[in-house]
Amino acid sequence: MRSYLLTIREELHQQPELAFQEEKTSAVIARELRRFGFKVCTGVGKTGVVGLLRFDEDGPCAALRADMDALPVLEETAVPYASRHPGVMHACGHDSHMAIALGCCRYFAENKTRFRGTFMAVFQPAEEIVGGAPAMLADGVFQDARPDVLFALHNWPQIPTGTVGIQAGPLTAFADRFQVVFRGVGGHGALPHKARDPIAMAAAAVQGAFAAVQRRSDPMRPRALSFGSIRGGSRFNIIPEEVVLEGTVRTLSPEDQNEMIALLEQVFGAAASAYGGTHKLDYEQGVPAVINDLEVCQRASAVVRERLPRTTVTTSGLNSLIGEDVAYFLQQVPGALLLFGSAEPGKVNELHNPRYLVPDEAVIAGFEAIREILCSYLEI
Ligand SMILES: [Zn+2]
Ligand SMILES: [Zn+2]
Repeated sequence: MRSYLLTIREELHQQPELAFQEEKTSAVIARELRRFGFKVCTGVGKTGVVGLLRFDEDGPCAALRADMDALPVLEETAVPYASRHPGVMHACGHDSHMAIALGCCRYFAENKTRFRGTFMAVFQPAEEIVGGAPAMLADGVFQDARPDVLFALHNWPQIPTGTVGIQAGPLTAFADRFQVVFRGVGGHGALPHKARDPIAMAAAAVQGAFAAVQRRSDPMRPRALSFGSIRGGSRFNIIPEEVVLEGTVRTLSPEDQNEMIALLEQVFGAAASAYGGTHKLDYEQGVPAVINDLEVCQRASAVVRERLPRTTVTTSGLNSLIGEDVAYFLQQVPGALLLFGSAEPGKVNELHNPRYLVPDEAVIAGFEAIREILCSYLEI
């Protein structure tokens, strides 16, 4: 199994593909699943693949999701199996997730008589643009079999290789985006009183929003606001007609999300009117938070502690305000997004970095943990 995991991981690492373009990747996955005797469905959510292995008709159904997409990053790892697609890289380690999931598929196929129910492997495209899970749901991913529990894994360089992170409750954030346009009246830089300056509005908006979030949010409830883009103006002595700001808001509950929308509306409105202009806010609610099921997490932690005594289980300090679209699956099926440690001393321990690589031992440890967790649901 060890050599299978590492070989298939290397094959997938060599041919990274961007979101919704995972054609070769899905071909490799379908090839392996068919070899293991799974019922295979391809083209689910564009490039997604679903594999089903039925042990019997009435037992429970346990599902494992692996994401498939890579990033527009030029790889600098110098490993022999580095990306052969220039400018595209598995810099988020999704190759390791697919390898682990395929390892589980192979394990269940080779030990069929020990299990009951159904094992479902969901290979999801386009996690990086949080579009793959809704696309698979729209294509009826759970039509043939409805999982009773669903797990997903992500490599996590914040914790050491050999550690597994299992944290109940909110693990990731509601990740939203917004655009606000400030409209004024263009004019000559020497005659500001004749114009209505949208640059002044935008400056007030940025400062005002940061201050308002800090002063009007419960300090015990995490919220993040960041502006990622500011556009406006053409020349040093021309006051432009408009300035456009774009940004993101991260929260952990729909209540906080709604409060943030109202707060931004207020601050941007005040900034615009102070300088005699107007604003228009377009706020787009994005992926919801991943909420890990308490019971599922307690059970998973107990299983790993009992069956893999050498593996360290971390149950706190793992949440962050990133977005993860497995949240859409977890809104339908109880389950959890688990993390497996991938930090190594002296190595680059940063997701999306061109020199980041999930260590071999992390792949093995992640596989063993999720295999035991899934087994605990399907064993006779
Ligand atoms: Zn990523
Ligand atoms: Zn990722």
